[in-house]
Amino acid sequence: MASHVVGYPRMGPKRELKFALESFWDGKSSEADLQKVAKDLRISIWKKMADVGVKYIPSNSFSYYDQVLDTTAMVGAVPPRYGWNGGEIGFDTYFSMARGNAKLPAMEMTKWFDTNYHYIVPELGPETKFKYSSHKAVDEYKEAKEIGIETVPVIVGPLTYLLLSKPAKGVPKTFELISLLDSILPVYKEVLGELKAAGATWVQFDEPSLVLDLEPYHLEAFKKAYSFLEGHGIKLVVETYFADIPVETYKTITQLKAISALGLDLVRGTKTLSLIKSHGFPSDKYLFAGIVDGRNIWATDLAVASAILKDLETLVGKGKVVVSTSCSLLHTAVDLVNETKLDDEIKSWLAFAAQKVVEVVALAKALAGQTDQAYFASNAAVIASRKTSSRVNNKAVQKAVGALKGSDHRRVTPVSVRLDEQQKKLNLPILPTTTIGSFPQTVELRRVRREYKSNKIAEAEYIQSIQQEIAKVVKLQEDLDIDVLVHGEPERNDMVEYFGEQLQGFAFTVNGWVQSYGSRCVKPPIIYGDVSRPKPMTLFWSKYAQSLTNRPMKGMLTGPVTILNWSFVRNDQPRSETSMQIALAIKEEVEDLEAGGIQVIQIDEAALREGLPLRKTEHANYLEWAVHGFRITNCGVKDTTQIHTHMCYSNFNDIIHSIIDMDADVITIENSRSDEKLLSVFREGVKYGAGIGPGVYDIHSPRIPDTEEIADRIGKMLAVLETNILWVNPDCGLKTRKYGEVVPALTNMVAAAKFLRTEL
Ligand code: GLN
Ligand code: ZN
Repeated sequence: MASHVVGYPRMGPKRELKFALESFWDGKSSEADLQKVAKDLRISIWKKMADVGVKYIPSNSFSYYDQVLDTTAMVGAVPPRYGWNGGEIGFDTYFSMARGNAKLPAMEMTKWFDTNYHYIVPELGPETKFKYSSHKAVDEYKEAKEIGIETVPVIVGPLTYLLLSKPAKGVPKTFELISLLDSILPVYKEVLGELKAAGATWVQFDEPSLVLDLEPYHLEAFKKAYSFLEGHGIKLVVETYFADIPVETYKTITQLKAISALGLDLVRGTKTLSLIKSHGFPSDKYLFAGIVDGRNIWATDLAVASAILKDLETLVGKGKVVVSTSCSLLHTAVDLVNETKLDDEIKSWLAFAAQKVVEVVALAKALAGQTDQAYFASNAAVIASRKTSSRVNNKAVQKAVGALKGSDHRRVTPVSVRLDEQQKKLNLPILPTTTIGSFPQTVELRRVRREYKSNKIAEAEYIQSIQQEIAKVVKLQEDLDIDVLVHGEPERNDMVEYFGEQLQGFAFTVNGWVQSYGSRCVKPPIIYGDVSRPKPMTLFWSKYAQSLTNRPMKGMLTGPVTILNWSFVRNDQPRSETSMQIALAIKEEVEDLEAGGIQVIQIDEAALREGLPLRKTEHANYLEWAVHGFRITNCGVKDTTQIHTHMCYSNFNDIIHSIIDMDADVITIENSRSDEKLLSVFREGVKYGAGIGPGVYDIHSPRIPDTEEIADRIGKMLAVLETNILWVNPDCGLKTRKYGEVVPALTNMVAAAKFLRTEL
């Protein structure tokens, strides 16, 4: 009977670590206070797993900020600018790298594979001297041992660590990071030696990069690394997750003698089972079978999972299958116990991290022939109730989505013709100015929304406050002489939650937080049923805003793929199906806005890029349905209605043809941190006929760009793009900025556009 958990959320059931970290950063508590909260959390997690009966309990899956940064500390790869003295890395150096300090900005942060978790990108080069500098893995192992719990220390593996790094400043972009393998491995070896001395029998190396499209020399590096690390009398488990592994990679790692167990994802790794079936599994290894979904919040269908595990056992051998989670539970919510507002029916369908651990053990027991009949029976009842519930199934929605299938949906008139028609009505100057949607969210605004939600203020009072805010924002934009206005989104807490709350098929948690980066967490909505729109969601506010001005007012919506990618989604139908349902709901809103006199409608697809699958072979399919969903939202509008979209992150070069295929009239994109990259696509001759607004300044920074600098940026864009398609706008929404920054920045932006108009 063997069970394993890949990793566990660190924040605590009520985000205890977040508050402890922030209080420490604010100087309101001591190092010791923070360490105490962290230790209590770790111990409670270990105890919970031990009580439930998990055999392989992870340690060192805790982190004060990020596990990749922990690895950077472990190997002593601190960028020289942080002035580290070379001793054991303490909070000072660690948090300076994570968050910056009075003199220096933080290191770069980027998304961990296709999750919403962000890691701190290591900066390496030929000069990097690796040296064992953080004993965290060993300390945490010992800490668990002290309370009598044997654990498996978890460390980011050397291949993944190097592949996720970037060349340090001044190192050529072409530098092969993998060439550092020889110099980093001795540190890993030292850590293994120390763990062995402390009594560890297993160590887990997380190597999720093995699911990516790797080159043969990467696999060679992998082989070399693990052969080098072998021979301590410590058993190594290599964990992979987030997808199945490519066939060649599978062949390579299964042959490797140095590894005692291999962890495979059976949830996202849809081909994992057939991979094992057709290529076999080595008799000298254990299979850590990731069957309990670490990326979602649904209760596992135990009957189905058990059947798969039995199948695996016949392939792999009796006693060789260890039941596990598909990945670290870091990517799911912490404990269902604290959900006080979810109704009993929906709650019964869910399992957060704490519940998933119980599932893992129950499945392991069942595999060993000790099925907990009562637990399995109640699970079967829950699974059946979810399948048949009228709250999940909406025949009308299913029919409408069914009717979409097999045909394309797009506007009939080509974009160049539509733009001419729109211009006749909108009468905009060249280089028209606009913003992305939100204006600063003040403390006062947040208070009003909160008090309205908790019934502390009446609806009339709430409406009045929001309308006042809209009026203020409209007046400001007119004073600034912006051409296409926005209402400022004061009624929205969040661009997905706002829509989810008004759509049927969504549920919300009170404590379903998932770590995004550092102490930051997000609380994704749960899409549990067929999605429909009972009534208009934004029409009231947009019409009000338009009534205040003669300038065009943009209707502001969130697109289907972004709503999908930022939610916990159904696992009982393909993502594409859910996306189509949302698309139809947004389509209704688009058409209501148009009928209500709104001539410009922006449908944000901020998260389209980040939903891209990890493997290239799957990109085309995703982009196909994602882009189709967007077109469905607006295929029914008149030629004269102008459809905008907005996207965050500037790495578009590889998906530019899909962006063009969205067929929006105007796209505004985050760009200011990488001008050159974006513009190079157009320089290389990609034909782009629609309107485009690459952000002219970075809204993530409080810095106020001056007119000249903005004009200079626009000038560079004009060198590659036609004058009549270029728009002038900031990178993204302004909600995190202060008015003191927004007003001068927008003043300079408008001045730059006006200046250039006189030059052209
Ligand atoms: N309209 C949204 C806003 O301005 C867009 C936010 C985003 O792209 N993340 O806030
Ligand atoms: Zn954005």
